[in-house]
Amino acid sequence: MNLVLMGLPGAGKGTQAEKIVEKYNIPHISTGDMFRAAIKEGTELGLQAKSFMDKGALVPDEVTIGIVKDRLSKDDCEKGFLLDGFPRTVAQAAALDEMLSELSRPIDYVINVDVDQDILMERLTGRRICKECGATYHLVFNPPAQEGVCTRCGGELYQRADDNAETVQNRLEVNLAQTKPLLSFYEDKGTLRNINGQQDINVVFEDIEKLLGGL
Ligand code: AMP
Repeated sequence: MNLVLMGLPGAGKGTQAEKIVEKYNIPHISTGDMFRAAIKEGTELGLQAKSFMDKGALVPDEVTIGIVKDRLSKDDCEKGFLLDGFPRTVAQAAALDEMLSELSRPIDYVINVDVDQDILMERLTGRRICKECGATYHLVFNPPAQEGVCTRCGGELYQRADDNAETVQNRLEVNLAQTKPLLSFYEDKGTLRNINGQQDINVVFEDIEKLLGGL
């Protein structure tokens, strides 16, 4: 099961990604998580990525494509994978096609979690993430059982530096401009599937399960 998960920031990609990888037991490849891990470890990659991420801009394609190529060639991707946050540009999508054809691991579906823009702003500024396990919550839509504490592991919750209102606005603009051509790219290939992301989290997942049940 080779999947790409798409959706603007705040569409619920992260939440659905967790559910998909747990149910179907495939590796979760999130470029955002990989960059954040590199920043935490203080690696060269982290230093390169940080300046772009802090501004809400995209990390350059050559850097991003390189880390995804390394990751997809690992053995655990033989059973499938879920790409989350990649590709973000048509150049990345074209590079992905090329690397997957070399690996004989073509994409089954590109799942687009579809949510109106005005709702995204509200969702993003209320997002909180666990420092320990990375689980995502929302102050209004998906609150933890205890304020500031991860329900799953008890870790401390924090607000991502790029989830403040000003950076969110920039991220949405950057993403919107780049998402349209990507959706057309995958629509033309026949792999794009739109899922209504403005439903209860579990209903969104049921729609995804129905889609993947056909594979
Ligand atoms: P995310 O966690 O997916 O929202 O990503 C957080 C940030 O990481 C983005 O705002 C970008 O700066 C960077 N990033 C993640 N994925 C990509 C990508 N595929 N291409 C370029 N930059 C990315």
